[in-house]
Amino acid sequence: MNKGKLFVVSGPSGVGKGTICSKILERVPNLKVSVSATTRAPRTGDVEGETYFFKSQEHFDAMIENEELLEWATYNGNRYGTPIWAVNDMLENGISVILEIDTQGALQVKEKMPESILIFIAPPTFDELAARLKGRATESEEEIARRIAAAEGEMALQSEYHHVVINDDLDTAVDEAEKLFRGLKT
Ligand code: ADP
Ligand code: 5GP
Repeated sequence: MNKGKLFVVSGPSGVGKGTICSKILERVPNLKVSVSATTRAPRTGDVEGETYFFKSQEHFDAMIENEELLEWATYNGNRYGTPIWAVNDMLENGISVILEIDTQGALQVKEKMPESILIFIAPPTFDELAARLKGRATESEEEIARRIAAAEGEMALQSEYHHVVINDDLDTAVDEAEKLFRGLKT
């Protein structure tokens, strides 16, 4: 059996990573999204074990100590990490895996697993990114401002990625991403 492929998807908060990935999962077989561990508090719509594994600081420390994470990073004061066991298990069983992670984590994965395929989702403009974050309304005004401030540094790292997809029109972006996940565009 061929091993699955590892895809890393990053982009500023609110750009549409989750929206695009969920549509891709409906279209592309043998593809799953890895569920990360995080110390951030659950927000509306989050489901334990589906969107994240929500962990205490102590439990997250233990995961790092026990080398249970493929990568981890601190984003806006909260820690996020990819449990390595589940990813390896899926890849060994021929299932391709999407890691929807921040730019710091993406660079760690690129180093550790150079065969991984890095995709950056970019917004058409900063104004549109801000509008999407505000429209999603899942964070406080302060948290939204912090996420917009972080976006500039994240955008500066897009040259580290193998592919950049601009999420202006959603259907166009999903079509373009689908080609990458199906290996039709390299
Ligand atoms: P991320 O996972 O990158 O943080 P989301 O997928 O949650 O972003 O998308 C943020 C918001 O933007 C959501 O309300 C989503 O419906 C909306 N959105 C996503 N893509 C587009 C698009 N192409 N045009 C307009 N709104 C979009
Ligand atoms: P959110 O709080 O909006 O769910 O996620 C905030 C940021 O953390 C996003 O950029 C998201 O991609 C990133 N993220 C989610 N899971 C992980 C992970 O396991 N590792 C890393 N490095 N970043 C993650």
